[in-house]
Amino acid sequence: MTALDDHGVALDVAHRAGEMLVDLVHSPDLDRRWGGLEYEGDARAHRFIMSELRRMRPDDAILSEEGADDRSRVGKERVWIVDPLDGSSDYGYSPHWSVHVALVVDGEPTVGAVAVPGWETTWGTDPAPQRVPAGVESGEAPRIVVSRSRSRFDGSRLQAALGADIYTVGSAGVKAMAVVRGDVDAYVHGGGLYEWDSCAPVAVARAAGLVCCRLDGSPLTFNKPDPWSPGLVISRPGLVDDICAVMGDRQP
Ligand SMILES: [Mg+2]
Repeated sequence: MTALDDHGVALDVAHRAGEMLVDLVHSPDLDRRWGGLEYEGDARAHRFIMSELRRMRPDDAILSEEGADDRSRVGKERVWIVDPLDGSSDYGYSPHWSVHVALVVDGEPTVGAVAVPGWETTWGTDPAPQRVPAGVESGEAPRIVVSRSRSRFDGSRLQAALGADIYTVGSAGVKAMAVVRGDVDAYVHGGGLYEWDSCAPVAVARAAGLVCCRLDGSPLTFNKPDPWSPGLVISRPGLVDDICAVMGDRQP
């Protein structure tokens, strides 16, 4: 058995965490009251991913949505940024949840994987996904997915300005992979989000040839002392300027 490189570690850990979460949904002895499934999914996927990354990459720092952040990671060259279960309110109720595992090297998310077991796929950075087309098909309305909670704000604005068809679905990872799959042309989130929401999806999306930036087109930054981030665009290259022109003045 050969040792996995970083891309392989991300893919392997995200994929197996997704399989574990699928098994957990079918577990007969789980307490499903009071958000029990969501709670157990978050906790168990976190423990699994932490133990696997510590085993395979013992020298690296880890930032997980479900872990305590003592900020000792800040300034480290290599930091794994993990969302053990993204879209947890959909977990057990729809296919729209995902597992995010990314590695930030010197601030850049160069390695990552997003598992969407409901779509029976785990996307990574090497091998990269098939490259998406550069633009929107000529004569077609741009197809843009936005967050459910922001559809009235982001969706209506993009619809009015660009004539876009607007879609909503749970989980940042699922929305980003909808762009990678070619189901839609862009994903726009006009509000704040955390680095674990965006990091692995951005790594995978860039590997597929998509542009990832803030609402005003400025670069995304990772492994900040405060992992909160103001807004996200993941788009086919030919559409990103139009989106940023509409959304760029948006306050987070
Ligand atoms: Mg989560």
